[in-house]
Parts: sequence; structure tokens; C-alpha cells
Amino acid sequence: MSDCTKCGEYMFFPERHTCSPKWEVIDADECGENDWKTIHALDGEDAAAKYAEQRDDRNGEGPRERTVIVREPGASDEKRFSITFEYSVDYSAQEQS
Ligand SMILES: [Zn+2]
Repeated sequence: MSDCTKCGEYMFFPERHTCSPKWEVIDADECGENDWKTIHALDGEDAAAKYAEQRDDRNGEGPRERTVIVREPGASDEKRFSITFEYSVDYSAQEQS
């Protein structure tokens, strides 16, 4: 019962865990070539969403819309994603053993 040390994902079944692919992401408004961040995600869309989520955790009230550029590590092919989000609070319940 732990998080993967490589990708940070929670491993429900450590013996069956495989890391998600790596993506490089950057905020379109902060175009420094050194600011690319590496994120593990299932696909480009997922990577963009995770990146936006991380940034907003750090900055508190971020903009509600941002454009995130995603590429495969080292690739010149870039995809742009528009991120929109709403603040929400999620509750979940787990039965106690
Ligand atoms: Zn992993």
C-alpha cells in the first residue's frame, strides 16, 4: 500500500503497477524553454489537466482558464489544451473495517 516512487501514483496492486507514460507540459503564457515539467499521465489531455491542477494548488486562486502545451518528451510536436475548471469540494466515504 504505497505510492509509486517513479510516477507518484497510488498503487492499488503494486505487483501489477505500470507507470503511465511521461509527458512534458508547460503553461502557454510562461514560455521559457526550461520551464517544461514532466508529468506521468495516460494521455496528453490527462497530462494537461494534472499540470493545471498542480499549479493551482501552489498558487491558490489561479486563472480559471489557461492554455497548456503538451508534448512527448523531447518531441517537437506540440498539442495545446484549453483548461477550464470550477472550484469544487468532493466528499467520499469509505466503509471502516
Ligand atoms: Zn509508477
